[in-house]
Amino acid sequence: MDDPLQRYREAIAKQVHAICWDRNLNPESTVDTEAACRIERFLPHLVEAAKMVGPNKFAEFEAVVVEAVCPSCGGRDAHGVCQTREAAECCLYRYLPLAYEAICGVESGPAGL
Ligand code: SF4
Repeated sequence: MDDPLQRYREAIAKQVHAICWDRNLNPESTVDTEAACRIERFLPHLVEAAKMVGPNKFAEFEAVVVEAVCPSCGGRDAHGVCQTREAAECCLYRYLPLAYEAICGVESGPAGL
């Protein structure tokens, strides 16, 4: 059975991974950035949130994603503060507008939202 997320994954690879600062282009490196990628890890939540809010509603999409993802990410401390986000080191948060654009771009196709 085809992976229903594959078309989103491909769009995000083109529009986000291709320009991602965190992407490790060193084939010798032991760091597997794809596996550590929060966008890949939480892709089902991102797609569900985009479908729920629809296109051209980034602020609503961001609010839904932060509520759905951050509590289960493990990045937040006991006060609910995420130091990774504060340091602008969360790839999911940094590339959220592009990820939303990529998902909506897939959705605006023939089988769209
Ligand atoms: S902002 Fe923090 S808690 Fe939310 S996904 Fe990024 S690292 Fe995780």
